Amino acid sequence: MAKDPKEVMDFLDNLLHASKKYGEQEYKDLLDFIKQDYGVTKVNPWDIAYYSEKLKMKKFNISDELLREYFPEDKVLSGMFNLVNKLYGMQIKEVTGFDTWHQDVRFFEVWDADNNLRGKFYTDLYARPGKRSGAWMADCMDRMLKGDKVQHPVAFLVANFSKPAKDKPATLTHDEVVTIFHEFGHTLHHVLTKANNPSVAGTNGVSWDAVELPSQFMENFAWEWDVVRDMSENVKTKEHLPKAMFDQLKASKNFQSALFMLRQLEFGIFDFKLHDQTKVSKPVLEVYKDVRSEVAVTPIIKETRFPNSFGHIFEGGYAAGYYGYKWAEVLSSDAYAMFEETGVFNPNTGEKFLHNILEKGGSEEAMDLYVKFRGRKPTIDALLRHSGLKS
Ligand SMILES: [Zn+2]
Repeated sequence: MAKDPKEVMDFLDNLLHASKKYGEQEYKDLLDFIKQDYGVTKVNPWDIAYYSEKLKMKKFNISDELLREYFPEDKVLSGMFNLVNKLYGMQIKEVTGFDTWHQDVRFFEVWDADNNLRGKFYTDLYARPGKRSGAWMADCMDRMLKGDKVQHPVAFLVANFSKPAKDKPATLTHDEVVTIFHEFGHTLHHVLTKANNPSVAGTNGVSWDAVELPSQFMENFAWEWDVVRDMSENVKTKEHLPKAMFDQLKASKNFQSALFMLRQLEFGIFDFKLHDQTKVSKPVLEVYKDVRSEVAVTPIIKETRFPNSFGHIFEGGYAAGYYGYKWAEVLSSDAYAMFEETGVFNPNTGEKFLHNILEKGGSEEAMDLYVKFRGRKPTIDALLRHSGLKS
């Protein structure tokens, strides 16, 4: 989606300049806290995560287990399905009465406002022995034209949540709610496609740096009060999540967001510089140390060999593509900002997102599709605002 290396480097530099001073402040706050509450003045790199967690608990006092009481799985799913109905006019209906690979698996059909079947998906949400860990969407069948008949797309929506206890429904932490919104975003991309050629239907053929747009876009709604209120119900008291608890949760969302941003930028810039060795040829470790001295605000030790274990780019599929994580966040934030500007549940904006992004898959250039949806190219402003890095 990004056109050339210069565009990518400029993009990473812009984010760096916008977030560095916030990162310095966040690190200073952490050091002050460590000194005040623990009397420690020498902080090593491996101490940072530990004390950060302590500071987060002190500031926000959020209990995952308390939150979990408010998010029964069924309520979360129906909240998510209602949202899709509001945004895109889709109805999601469960179909029962046939064999699946496990008794916990459920099957759903997606019908559009004109009563056309658009696609189907399985959910397989609970952990069990022998199942791969994590959460993901995978395609089962792609949309395809067979003669004059449409083969409808089918997706798997898989997670590893705790299964229901004997006398209690399955409940999710808020982190898990965000996770399922994310994977459901991928699922919608797969099942709402109208591209008839399977190699560009759904998530197939979508630029690597744009494929996380629909998923990260959906995550935003898991932080929207109206959505959270409606999909929360305490398993004992049947009350919605109290607004004060939500506010606390939302405030914690951007805790150390600049430090996180700088870490991601460090990886992205390092990755990209390695692929730009035409101008300067240095050992990998030297390149990394140069990047760190420009980007990072936290210390490292001289023995660091971080590049040796940077699996994403040396053994994974992210070589020269690590920036794509941030790029997709820029897109999803900027897309969500359009909903904020026009009303979060605005069906016209929903229709634009549906027609230009979700239905098109990889059948057109990602940037062209984005511009058709948004009316302009993306900017970094919304991501900075959503991350609390801009007033
Ligand atoms: Zn994803």
